[in-house]
Amino acid sequence: MLMSQVFAPTLRETPKEAEIPSHQLMLRAGFIRKNAGGIYTYLPLAVRVLQKIERIIREELEARGCQELLLPIIQPAELWQQTGRWDVYGEEMFRLTDRHGRQFCLGPTHEEIITALVAAEVNSYRQLPLRLYQIQNKYRDEIRPRFGLMRGREFIMKDCYSFDRDQAGLDESYRLMYEAYTAIFNRCGLTTRPVEADPGAIGGNATHEFMVIADTGEAAIVYCTECDYAANVEKAELLPPAGAGESSSVDLPVVEEVYTPDCKTIKEVADYLQLPESETIKTLLYEVEGEFVMVLVRGDHTLNEYKLAAHLGTSTFRLAEDDSLVGTGFVTGFLGPINPPAKIRVIADYALQAGGPYVVGANKADYHLRNVVVGRDFTADAFADLRQAEPGDSCPRCRGRLAGARGIEVGQVFKLGTKYSKALNATYLDENGVAREIVMGCYGIGVGRTMAAAIEQNHDEDGIIWPLPIAPFHVIIVPVAYTDPAQKELADKLYAELTELGYEVLLDDRDERPGVKFKDADLIGIPYRITIGPKGIQNGFVELVTRRTRSKIEIPLEEATSKIRSIIGSV
Ligand code: ATP
Ligand code: MG
Repeated sequence: MLMSQVFAPTLRETPKEAEIPSHQLMLRAGFIRKNAGGIYTYLPLAVRVLQKIERIIREELEARGCQELLLPIIQPAELWQQTGRWDVYGEEMFRLTDRHGRQFCLGPTHEEIITALVAAEVNSYRQLPLRLYQIQNKYRDEIRPRFGLMRGREFIMKDCYSFDRDQAGLDESYRLMYEAYTAIFNRCGLTTRPVEADPGAIGGNATHEFMVIADTGEAAIVYCTECDYAANVEKAELLPPAGAGESSSVDLPVVEEVYTPDCKTIKEVADYLQLPESETIKTLLYEVEGEFVMVLVRGDHTLNEYKLAAHLGTSTFRLAEDDSLVGTGFVTGFLGPINPPAKIRVIADYALQAGGPYVVGANKADYHLRNVVVGRDFTADAFADLRQAEPGDSCPRCRGRLAGARGIEVGQVFKLGTKYSKALNATYLDENGVAREIVMGCYGIGVGRTMAAAIEQNHDEDGIIWPLPIAPFHVIIVPVAYTDPAQKELADKLYAELTELGYEVLLDDRDERPGVKFKDADLIGIPYRITIGPKGIQNGFVELVTRRTRSKIEIPLEEATSKIRSIIGSV
């Protein structure tokens, strides 16, 4: 294609609203334009990349027995009401009402609609397993759409659903999809790391997220430096500390009250008493289904509400607000587990089974207690894994050291089980004519997010460096002056020959200075550039520049095409 005809309006300046490289570069290089918060137009270069990612996805999924279909974006409320998610989804769901007053949503995901389809059409074990997928726009009214295509409100997703006879079938579908994801991201030139994750609202019991490790990632992960354990910090398990419950309290001083005026936060208390935060206990008061529950974590640790939800068996809870504490005797800022004003259930993080003595709130304004020994001075109703994992913690598998990293979640695989088949009555008759619930899995890939993540991992100060398999074009031919007949002739010849070989080639036919053309080629990120100049023509060579390494080689004209082919390889 001729560069003069490519609709890729580039920008000289980096737009202010763009904070991360992929967003900045996609705007600057003319890949996307914003229409509203989290809603974008994909320009032709972006569409070329998206189509390549989609082709790779299709090939890997079809190779594993998945079939493509296309479900509607507009979905009736009734189905969502049947699974209970019409309410659960909350404000993230775009809702609309038709002229008859019927309610619909713009699909944020498609478990309901596809399960209803399968419930209606699949009756026999002979029709299973079934793996269906689609590539389509999804709609989520994210609280904070940002980072361009990373977190949009309208975005392209590949979503796949597996339907199996039993758990063993699901395990096999899950294994295949996990394998497909690994292959897909590899082929897209991305280094990903599968991590264990929390199933959250979608339900189910096992899930992995595929993370692209990048400093700009929104997710925090930990991974073991000694074994292959890796998890989202929301999920990362922690074991009770070594030596839990062994501390001998015989010789320790008794509890005493200390005056801590206005010290309401852990930091204020620790600073005032000149102690590390790790020698204090953070006491949090939660309202859980109408009852107060006291939750304790070490002062320097962070409570993980996902873990709290798992422990409590419900996610309907919230931190007690000052208003609801009026008249209860609980004093915000000075809460503690010793002599609370009312009988209360106390749950404590595992870490408190070791260490200490600790400082805790005295349940009295402006006072704390010190020399508090867990087990001697109070005990919790339960100890549990409640806190967020941090770099330096022990691996739950091998007790090796965990390290931290940031990641971009490009895909996720879930074992759903029967949550949706139960709600929507998706059953089949087994070999004995007995009705059974279909066992489901679901598997998503953010296609636009994958494109953005590829840029996060592959760029430099001059622009994008597309991995070859997803590059919008493989090669760009830049004649220094296309108006020069000798250069034009050679450029046209190379263009025709490389195109004939199956490469996607751009030819910069513009009447611009060479510097401008080189800059644009770098910005757009075409993996290989062939430069044709008067000197080269005179001496009989062209120059091949590799975008990633900037290495330049001179290739004799007569063997140009074959040499270039051997360097670029197959695409
Ligand atoms: P996140 O935690 O980032 O919000 P999610 O868990 O809500 O993601 P899924 O419902 O599993 O995401 O969706 C499957 C994939 O779709 C994700 O792995 C991600 O790549 C992509 N995705 C999800 N939300 C967005 C979004 N707002 N914009 C772009 N891509 C998204
Ligand atoms: Mg989300």
